[in-house]
Amino acid sequence: MGNCIFCKIIAGDIPSVKIYEDDLIYAFLDIAPINPGHVLVIPKEHHESASTIPEATAGRMFRIGSRIGIALKRELDYDAYNLHLADGTAAGQVVMHAHLHVVPRGVEDNFHWNWRQLTYADDAARAAVAEKLVRRLADASEIQK
Ligand code: AMP
Ligand code: ZN
Repeated sequence: MGNCIFCKIIAGDIPSVKIYEDDLIYAFLDIAPINPGHVLVIPKEHHESASTIPEATAGRMFRIGSRIGIALKRELDYDAYNLHLADGTAAGQVVMHAHLHVVPRGVEDNFHWNWRQLTYADDAARAAVAEKLVRRLADASEIQK
């Protein structure tokens, strides 16, 4: 895609620090890491949304993301890692080429997700939400954005 910064990285037109590459995916160091060793795993094919990435490629991203996480623990002494993917601007996606973050984590790294825990008004409200999702997912042919 013409102006996509991650497509330019794959093409070698913008420099990156490569961690892994195969026929389907490319992985490189995030330029502004949450912790040193923070890696981005991207499909070589341009997809704005992860929802359109073919299943084999998406599976490879998840599998290699996990292997990178294990490497971060074994080689860089981290305690754990987060796999994070922002799909859409409201979710925090800034670069519009889908990417999986592998974020190395330490027990005392002083980083906290700003995670909240709301409650449903009542059981009926919760069931109504579930019903809509189940109905939509029953149409297996559909990938909607
Ligand atoms: P997101 O907010 O999920 O879209 O994340 C985009 C990520 O891309 C951020 O963590 C940036 O630090 C990272 N990033 C942007 N430009 C580059 C680049 N040229 N090389 C490596 N990482 C980059
Ligand atoms: Zn791209």
